[in-house]
Amino acid sequence: MTNLTFGIIKPDAVRAGHTGSIIQRILDGGFKIRGLKLIHITRREAEGFYEVHRERPFFSGLTEFMSSGPCVVMALEKEGAVKAWRDLMGATDPAKADAGTLRKEFGGSVGENAVHGSDSDENAAIEIGYFFSRLELV
Ligand code: UDP
Ligand code: MG
Repeated sequence: MTNLTFGIIKPDAVRAGHTGSIIQRILDGGFKIRGLKLIHITRREAEGFYEVHRERPFFSGLTEFMSSGPCVVMALEKEGAVKAWRDLMGATDPAKADAGTLRKEFGGSVGENAVHGSDSDENAAIEIGYFFSRLELV
């Protein structure tokens, strides 16, 4: 899984109509899309996904937001995919993200920041497995 990472186009970006632009930026960035689907997750599914953040003060708002509307989940392939995708996303807080990153361009706040990306190869494998079955990955 070292060339794979997991990404989400979060509900704020889907709601704002940025899905197509973000997918274009992913392709322009040299990623291959190995899995892609539009889903609307439940609060409980969002809590399961962000389990490591359960004790953080933003957990409740984060899981409410992530279940507030459809999002796009993606399995992305590129050499060094985890770092490459985090570089394209930019810093967690859009106000601190570099120019040209997705969060700078499409993120509205530290919570509603347009995209998610795995932080390690190990978590990429776990997160892809949380949302995709083997048959949904090409
Ligand atoms: N988040 C938030 N407030 C914070 C920090 C994070 O609402 O102070 C949200 C934000 O949506 C972020 C997610 O929680 O993307 C996961 O946080 P993490 O620190 O893992 O940031 P990321 O890996 O997404 O950059
Ligand atoms: Mg993270």
